[in-house]
Amino acid sequence: MAMKRQVYLNEYNLPADNNAIFFPYASGLLQAYTQQFGVINYNYEFKPIIFVRDTVEQIVKQYDNPNIIGFSTVLWNYNLSLAVAKRLKENFPKCKIIFGGPQVELNSKIFFIEHPYIDVCVYGEGEKVFHKLLIDNVYNGIPYHKILFEKDDNTDLDEFPSPYTTGIFNELIKLHSNVKFKGLVEYNRNCPFHCAYCFWGQPELGTKVKYHSQQYIKEEIEWLGENKIEYVFGTDANFGMFKRDLDTAKRYVEVKNKYGYPKIFRVCYGKEDNTNIFETASILDNADLAKIVTLSVQSQNKKVLDSVGRKNISKESFTKLQKKYSDAGISTYTEIILGLPNETRQSFLDGLEETLRSVGSNRIFIYQCQVYKNTRLDSEEFRLKYGLITKTRPMSEPHSAVRTKDMIGEFEEIIIGTNTLTVEEWKECAVVSWLVQLLHSFKAGYNTIKWLVSTYNISYMDIYLYLTHSELLLIKVLWNIAEQITQGLPENQVRPMFGTIYYEPEEILYLNICHSPTDFYTKLLGRLQVFINTHKLPYKGHIFSTDLVKMLNLDKKQILLKEETEDWTSFAIKTIIYGGKSK
Ligand code: SF4
Repeated sequence: MAMKRQVYLNEYNLPADNNAIFFPYASGLLQAYTQQFGVINYNYEFKPIIFVRDTVEQIVKQYDNPNIIGFSTVLWNYNLSLAVAKRLKENFPKCKIIFGGPQVELNSKIFFIEHPYIDVCVYGEGEKVFHKLLIDNVYNGIPYHKILFEKDDNTDLDEFPSPYTTGIFNELIKLHSNVKFKGLVEYNRNCPFHCAYCFWGQPELGTKVKYHSQQYIKEEIEWLGENKIEYVFGTDANFGMFKRDLDTAKRYVEVKNKYGYPKIFRVCYGKEDNTNIFETASILDNADLAKIVTLSVQSQNKKVLDSVGRKNISKESFTKLQKKYSDAGISTYTEIILGLPNETRQSFLDGLEETLRSVGSNRIFIYQCQVYKNTRLDSEEFRLKYGLITKTRPMSEPHSAVRTKDMIGEFEEIIIGTNTLTVEEWKECAVVSWLVQLLHSFKAGYNTIKWLVSTYNISYMDIYLYLTHSELLLIKVLWNIAEQITQGLPENQVRPMFGTIYYEPEEILYLNICHSPTDFYTKLLGRLQVFINTHKLPYKGHIFSTDLVKMLNLDKKQILLKEETEDWTSFAIKTIIYGGKSK
């Protein structure tokens, strides 16, 4: 028999602490689907999926006489994928190179001129198109310099076998015993909503939500438990909205009880006031599988939401839900995006005020608005209509390992101003955002700020804006970061003391406070005393032992302290990664 054609799939994922990396799920799906067919197995041999981010030289070394090379491209591996593809075409001119994933350049007229080494691109769902390409490659030849896109709303998702239960990832586990694999699972595909900034929200991808059967899900969770996968992320856009999600949550609990794994199942919950979502979250919370529920708003302003095609639940329902989760002992976090079209300085600050008043002690995460390729936000029409001012900066993905100098850099485009928000206002809002996350979400000043607001009947923004324009050293640091971002520098930083991974500004500040709490609280006390004086607010209690001091001491007591046996890197990873946004 003639030698089989070799297929190599590439999906470089980000390594985090302890060499924890997600399974190359998209590539696994392509392999699992196509290998069901005899004609494919007769003609092709699939080599182990290449997923470890490395230098171009090291990746290319793994190749031997490739026939088909596939790349699953996302924001954080795009330039690396292009560089590897180019080198491979030089080394193996007869191979066929296929690009897929959200980064495929749908709107560029010069893509194939700039990247002639790529043969074909696949946009949207890849399984069936990839299968056809493999067949064409044997019999007729594959298309040249074309972008293929086939939408199929009628597919039953079970047509696509699981890369877990088909054993594809067992092979990777055996080959990479040094990697701590993280699971990625997809229980349904597509999102019924159409947020302009989100890739999933693009209507051309399909609006009909497609599902896997409960049997498929059951077997996959069993595999994850049996193979001791500690962390699993569900890609569902609206988990908990459907009755079946209750069964999925119960299954996670059963499997955790049986194997002790998975220990964490993280997913984005539906955005509705829905009993099913609450019950699903409660089941996972009680089993310590997911300690936090998303209740995102992105913006509190109707004009902003209308511009991006997003609807939030009513403000009353949002407040009621926050309380319902808090009463049940389940934490929530609310996401807000800075830089959305139509947002003004005032509407952003008003939205923050409103959110701080309704979330209680729950966390708020504030993201800078990224412009993802192939979204409506990325269109000429949107850019012109809302006067988007953007900056492209090197990526510094939070909590992932730092790229060494010999590695290819990746870039992201973020909005730093619009026709309703100047760049100066954007910087101010960015500083306020980091401060809110530090003092409120990390609780470095939660009790103090809350006390000031209720005692003096002032707004949260009165205090946050005062601190934002104060002489505190950490404020100067934050203004400096904001300025650097507008010059195209990355947001996130590395502090070798806390390990060689990227941390967000408020995370580094929090870790610094843990390192020297007295210094921080003494300076904050000084600033807040000036605030009270300049606003002619009466002191509560004796000047030297005011309630303000008591509140600051309460906050200081809640700052996490390093255990004597711990080093600062382990402390930072435990505190931020397992206690912060990634949990
Ligand atoms: S942001 Fe969420 S709700 Fe909106 S389109 Fe994307 S996945 Fe759907």
